[in-house]
Amino acid sequence: MTAFDSVLFQNSYRQLGEQFSSEQAPTPVSAPELIRFNDALAEQLNLPVDVQSSPDLLQVLAGNRVPDNISPIATVYAAHQFGGWNPQLGDGRAILLGEVVGKNNKRYDIQLKGAGQTPYSRMGDGRSALGPVLREYILCEAMAALNIPTTRALAAVSTGDQVARETMLPGAIFTRVAQSHIRIGTFQFFSARNDLASVKALADYVIDRHYKDAVETLQTSSDIDPYTALLTCVLKAQAQLIAKWMSVGFIHGVMNTDNMLVCGETVDYGPCAFMDQYDPNKVFSSIDQQGRYAYARQPDIGGWNVSWLAQALLPLMDDVKEQALDKAQQALGQYTDTFDKHYHGLMAEKLGFAKPSSEVNALSVGLLDLMAEQNSDYTLTFRALTDSLAPEDETNTLGEVYQLSNAFQPWLKKWQALLAQENRDASIAYALMARTNPAYIPRNHWVEAAIQQATQHQNFSVFHQLVDVLAKPFEYLSLIHI
Ligand code: AMP
Ligand code: MG
Repeated sequence: MTAFDSVLFQNSYRQLGEQFSSEQAPTPVSAPELIRFNDALAEQLNLPVDVQSSPDLLQVLAGNRVPDNISPIATVYAAHQFGGWNPQLGDGRAILLGEVVGKNNKRYDIQLKGAGQTPYSRMGDGRSALGPVLREYILCEAMAALNIPTTRALAAVSTGDQVARETMLPGAIFTRVAQSHIRIGTFQFFSARNDLASVKALADYVIDRHYKDAVETLQTSSDIDPYTALLTCVLKAQAQLIAKWMSVGFIHGVMNTDNMLVCGETVDYGPCAFMDQYDPNKVFSSIDQQGRYAYARQPDIGGWNVSWLAQALLPLMDDVKEQALDKAQQALGQYTDTFDKHYHGLMAEKLGFAKPSSEVNALSVGLLDLMAEQNSDYTLTFRALTDSLAPEDETNTLGEVYQLSNAFQPWLKKWQALLAQENRDASIAYALMARTNPAYIPRNHWVEAAIQQATQHQNFSVFHQLVDVLAKPFEYLSLIHI
């Protein structure tokens, strides 16, 4: 018996119908060892937290044992990848153990990533290397601490097996938690096959699981059908999510439609990164030769992605094609406004203002231009601005670590003048800025150092230190060199 045996695992997605998934048990590994377990998240999910005293639980997280209360599956989807259509994808290396209901009464998927081949593995081995597992753990937990909707890390386990990439690398399994793993590409898979009954079943399921209240409210307030309401909910969630990414300088890197969850959480921490120096054209992914997913293109790509969800939902919106198109276009028209509203709101807060205005927006554009010209660090510039309003006795500051260059002086004067004009008390502006401008982000050189120490020297101390520091990103600790 493991502590997981007594957990009530549900499988509502599996029950949706056999066209949505395939039964698939994980493939055992040789010598699993626990790297890290997220006790705080486990507690929120009503899962047993005492993993250290439950060695059998490690066997479940490694895919070596499937308790009787778990019916694992791999799910099917399709996608536009880098703009090109791929009609058949699916969980090629991820296995959904089931769903649990958390303390907040929401349902969460528990998925093992890197747990072996599935019917959707194509030529892949179904495995994950240790480096990407640590990377995903660090990045997604950092995002959660920055209050950005994201899939979460429940555990990372090393397998004791090697995986063949360009070289042989140590293998690992990541236990991922999401409000669901349903993607825009999941809708596309059935839509492309003209399987309208499955699109409808999926849409009804998503409404019930994620947007029940919001859809009902929209239906009454705007007199629209449930599927146009669903589209509206998803596009708003995407617009808000991408506004948050932009506000912290996050570049997702692979915004294919299979990597966009309809629940609005960030997923797929493959080629993503936080930018250091501000550069709107920044691209990190080496496979993104055209810069399709560059920082500044993310809002537009998000709109393009949700238009594919609209395409899939069209036949459900109205029997008359023109009417359906009309409804979809009206809904899609809200995407840019929603993005702008949230983005400007977040940028205003980062500058200490309660709400955006044309003056505040102009100020933030001016700052970004200046940062681009000066090659300034995005995160530290905002943090230095924050510090400039800190009370004398405040110790949570960067101090000598980072200071704005003289080139910022004219802009600083305008900013201070606008704060004064809007009667923003410095202590109120400071408090707002100190909780919206992080001191720590998962910088690439740290993430790389953590991975290198772990893969080359079996030393996980940098990884653990990084995860711990990034859990409190707004507190400057002077522990880690920025
Ligand atoms: P990703 O780039 O992680 O979004 O993966 C794109 C697709 O390739 C998804 O359908 C994955 O399940 C699949 N995939 C990625 N890596 C592997 C692997 N090592 N084995 C099997 N399938 C994989
Ligand atoms: Mg993916």
